[in-house]
Amino acid sequence: MENLAELKALLQTPRKICIITHKNPDGDAVGSSLALQLALQKMNHQVTAIVPNDFPIFLKWIPHQEELLRFDKNKDESQSAINSAELIFTLDFNDLSRCGDVAEALQNMNADFVMIDHHQQPADYAKFMYSDDKMGSTCEMIYHFLEKMDAINLIDKDIATCIYVGIMTDTGSFRFPATTNTTHQVVSKLIEAGADNSAIHQQTFDVNSYQRMQLLGVALKNMTLIPEYKTAYIHLSKEELEAHNYKKGDTEGFVNYGLSLENVVFAVIFIESLDEDLIKISFRSKGNFDVNQFARKHFEGGGHKNAAGGRSMKNLTDTLSYFKEKLSLQEDLKG
Ligand code: 5GP
Ligand code: MN
Repeated sequence: MENLAELKALLQTPRKICIITHKNPDGDAVGSSLALQLALQKMNHQVTAIVPNDFPIFLKWIPHQEELLRFDKNKDESQSAINSAELIFTLDFNDLSRCGDVAEALQNMNADFVMIDHHQQPADYAKFMYSDDKMGSTCEMIYHFLEKMDAINLIDKDIATCIYVGIMTDTGSFRFPATTNTTHQVVSKLIEAGADNSAIHQQTFDVNSYQRMQLLGVALKNMTLIPEYKTAYIHLSKEELEAHNYKKGDTEGFVNYGLSLENVVFAVIFIESLDEDLIKISFRSKGNFDVNQFARKHFEGGGHKNAAGGRSMKNLTDTLSYFKEKLSLQEDLKG
């Protein structure tokens, strides 16, 4: 961030601040929002952290998660917090279209934007921009941001826990290539500050419902392998979700089973949305195949080189045909 000193000076005086993250918030979005909120509150700022909509049940134990203001449920309160804000932090996304209906609420505000994010190709809306696509998570960036603000001593057990959650979920429990020695050094500091690593993993991952495991069974049965393109894809229909009493977050991580197949470098999951007329798609890859490009080009999406998302307005059958057609043009996957 070039104008870091200016932001640091701004934060010397108590400010009204909003924190906003992307639609369908994940562990990194929720963890970074809460960690920053707690740290800024300790610096005597008045902070409102807004999530566009609900987040998965497996995150509903994180310290202070009940304080997040849901835009879809509390539009007026969210709007007035946005209108009176002097600074708006946007976390874990880099294009305002990613925060859903909140984007509209940002039209008439007076505040300056601060972006803290690790996705590729950031849009140009933030006065203060800390964008680094080499980072494995926004939560790791929150740690470095607090370091830059000389505020590392503010990190207590709750803040450390929130940051840990986002690093853990976005690095696939410290296994994706973006996990560096610095990541582990940060994690070491978080444990030192009170984060209970073993308990955090258990509270997040060992909370499966029986229904979710059954749904996983269906997803695995629906998996198709295309060996000549080193690709595996999964699909789940509305009916399959409903039959297993689908709850938000239930399909989290399913796409990785495709990627765990020997020789597969590209995995996709197509999930029919229950509340919108679209198919939500997750893309994952190993090595050089760039799913951010693939998602941007064919599925109105984006993300990172090895993990991206997108959507399709076609029905499930047509979406799969379209996908296979685009896949057959991927010479780089062949062989
Ligand atoms: P997921 O598949 O878990 O929804 O998303 C994978 C990654 O891609 C996440 O980092 C997420 O923020 C990003 N992502 C998901 N959907 C979109 C999208 O529609 N546009 C962009 N730019 N990024 C996305
Ligand atoms: Mn993230």
